[in-house]
Amino acid sequence: MGFIRLLGPLAGEGRRHVAAPAVTVVWDERFRSYDLGAEHPFSERSRALGFELLSAAAPEGAIERVRTVPPAERDLLHRFHLEEYLAFVEHASQFENPILLDAGDTPSFAGCYEEAARLVEGADRGLLETVATGRPSFHPAGGLHHARPDRASGFCIFNDVAVAVAHAVADGRRVAYLDIDAHHGDGVMYGFYDSGKVLDIDFHQDGRTLFPGTGFPPETGRGDGAGLKVNLPLPPLAGNEALLPLFRRVVPPLLRSFRPEVIVLQHGVDGHVGDALAHLQYTPEAYLEIDRTVLDLSREVAGGRLLVTGGGGYRASAVSRVLARAGLVLAGAPIPGPREEVPETWRTSYRETIGELSPRTWEEPEETSGTRWRPEHEAKLVEELERRLGQQFPAAP
Ligand SMILES: [Zn+2]
Repeated sequence: MGFIRLLGPLAGEGRRHVAAPAVTVVWDERFRSYDLGAEHPFSERSRALGFELLSAAAPEGAIERVRTVPPAERDLLHRFHLEEYLAFVEHASQFENPILLDAGDTPSFAGCYEEAARLVEGADRGLLETVATGRPSFHPAGGLHHARPDRASGFCIFNDVAVAVAHAVADGRRVAYLDIDAHHGDGVMYGFYDSGKVLDIDFHQDGRTLFPGTGFPPETGRGDGAGLKVNLPLPPLAGNEALLPLFRRVVPPLLRSFRPEVIVLQHGVDGHVGDALAHLQYTPEAYLEIDRTVLDLSREVAGGRLLVTGGGGYRASAVSRVLARAGLVLAGAPIPGPREEVPETWRTSYRETIGELSPRTWEEPEETSGTRWRPEHEAKLVEELERRLGQQFPAAP
């Protein structure tokens, strides 16, 4: 299993010694090989830089790292995916020339079966770790929430988060799945649409304006899952002013009434202002508040069992720094201020990896513009959710 304490180059001021690791971070260098091609917008490069920055900034001993992750075995993949589809990917995986695995966004590559299955194993390790230890786990390379049981979708070959959720459910656990990626987490939501064991809360850009075109308030689940699927679509240009009041009103009461045994947070960063594929305008403060809130709630309602995965994100400077700070929150470490400089070694790695100048500080002022979000939009959405879910939400704190 090879759990190796991370002992990075950790000299620096303000580093506080932490007695025991506070978070398990799943990072195998081979995750970088999930690569859909040089021209493709999705790659693990930004997430790798997030892991590198977290490693450089975390206090000594705060992180325990799982560094060797084999591809998931077939029986684990079968918890969510169908054999016919697995066989198709395995076949495509043998060839250098890409074969499209869906309607057009997700090409195969040589070795794609193994690398997609490795990301699944990473999510499952993270889940089992948090269940066993009651402390958070972080799988920054994961969060491929679009893949369906029988097909690839939206850059996602296998759905690592759905497999981890399915594993927890098969073990009899109640799971709360939160998704803050700009895109609706359709693979997970519809994968557990009938399940009374999975509460799914998904904030995303309105499906009428963004892939995959799903995730509307009337979609609240079916059968045992009725009332447990919660969709909060936001219009283009919405930012913190829309996300945070809704999050504060809706998420804590839903988690407190559902009382999950484990929480999974899909932490896509493509809702960040300036993202190349989506049109929301969240800033780093919003992610920080959500990270802290979800960590606190996991301790309050789920015994500290929290798996955080990565997700989408198409602006490397945002993805890397936001994910690194998410890891620091989970590690209980001090959070660098916005104007604090990032480590020089990381800046070099960023330049070499992305081919652009690295940001110098943890944040820079972001220009946001022209939100159309108004308090009446919040009131209307919350009223609709209350009516459809049969639950009252408190006024914004
Ligand atoms: Zn996304």
